[in-house]
Amino acid sequence: MLPYLRSDLAQLVAYTPHPGGAGHAPTEMPQLLDRLDTNESPVDLSEELKQKLSWLVQQEIESNRYPDGSHAQLKGAIAKYVTESAPLTTPIAPEQISVSNGSDELIRSILIATCLSGEGSILVAQPTFSMYGITAKTLGIPVVTVGRSPDFEINLPAAQAAIAQTQNPPIRVVFVVHPNSPTGNALTEAELAWLRNLPEQILVVVDEAYFEFSQTTVVAELAQRPNWVVLRTLSKAFRLAGHRVGYAIAHPELIAALEKVRLPYNLPSLSQAAAELAIAHRDTLLSSIPALLAERDQLLSIWSSHPRLQVWSSTANFIFLRLKLGDVSPEQAEATLEEVFQQLRSQGTLIRKISGGLRITVGTPSENQRTVERLQGILDSL
Ligand SMILES: *Cc1c(COP(=O)(O)O)cnc(C)c1O
Repeated sequence: MLPYLRSDLAQLVAYTPHPGGAGHAPTEMPQLLDRLDTNESPVDLSEELKQKLSWLVQQEIESNRYPDGSHAQLKGAIAKYVTESAPLTTPIAPEQISVSNGSDELIRSILIATCLSGEGSILVAQPTFSMYGITAKTLGIPVVTVGRSPDFEINLPAAQAAIAQTQNPPIRVVFVVHPNSPTGNALTEAELAWLRNLPEQILVVVDEAYFEFSQTTVVAELAQRPNWVVLRTLSKAFRLAGHRVGYAIAHPELIAALEKVRLPYNLPSLSQAAAELAIAHRDTLLSSIPALLAERDQLLSIWSSHPRLQVWSSTANFIFLRLKLGDVSPEQAEATLEEVFQQLRSQGTLIRKISGGLRITVGTPSENQRTVERLQGILDSL
């Protein structure tokens, strides 16, 4: 290793969006590959919105000028959207919003603002979104993990014990996804009750990346809970993964702290313009969700009745399943799972192999049909 690098960096691994060596596949065969591995929207912005965006690039955006580092207009639009889409008595104010280069950046800002310099550890329940742990480790922040039940509910006694026992540094942040990735389950009443009972010196991060699909949100509780923050993204239902826009909703003092630790011009002008455009046209963009959820339910019903698949219900735009292989060794099970994953990929369907199972993004109807046929064929040949 290079002698000037931090000694603990050698143990860390970079986040790979397409594990299994498919990193270059999208450019190699753009028409042939069904990319169902990163939970994006299967459809792009409309021609009309693309033209509007091009017009903004040509007429409005000054490339020689720095972007608006205050994100004033975008924050206003987001505050309005969040207020409209939740049952709230008082509207969300722009001071309760922080905007970031993907919600990944907010995860890092939260860690910097809470745990850095040996002040805190984080708690996550596996399996869950990997970026919390990955980002914490790049900052030298300890990650405490607990497990989940067979239906992926957080092991709450273990989580409670971890909080009681972890010292030097204590747990400062608990990360949860609502609904969870990769497993698709929303937080239960028991999990929510546990989160509500956490002491005020622990920050609760509720990542609602899939809110537009699940319609489950804790935004209405933020007014009473200064130690809660909700993360959202425009990378999924809003079709803007390529523009990298995420946002946080929280108490104004926490938002002020997050603004302090971020980079001054974290969001390019074009991304801000794309986000404003998408939010202005939200009715059109989000109107495709019911059809996508119907596709998801159809996939769920097909796969639930398959004798070799164990499938969990999902409130998001993806499905988690495992193979039922009977009495085989863990090594054999893993090898078979890898075989299914690789065969699907070689036939042109890229999904995510994760946590001893497969996470499959709901795509277009034809993509979904191909996934069903290909998976069926592969399972038949096992
Ligand atoms: C996709 C996803 C995000 C989005 O990250 P961005 O950086 O905004 O693209 C955040 N959290 C979870 C759990 C996700 O699945």
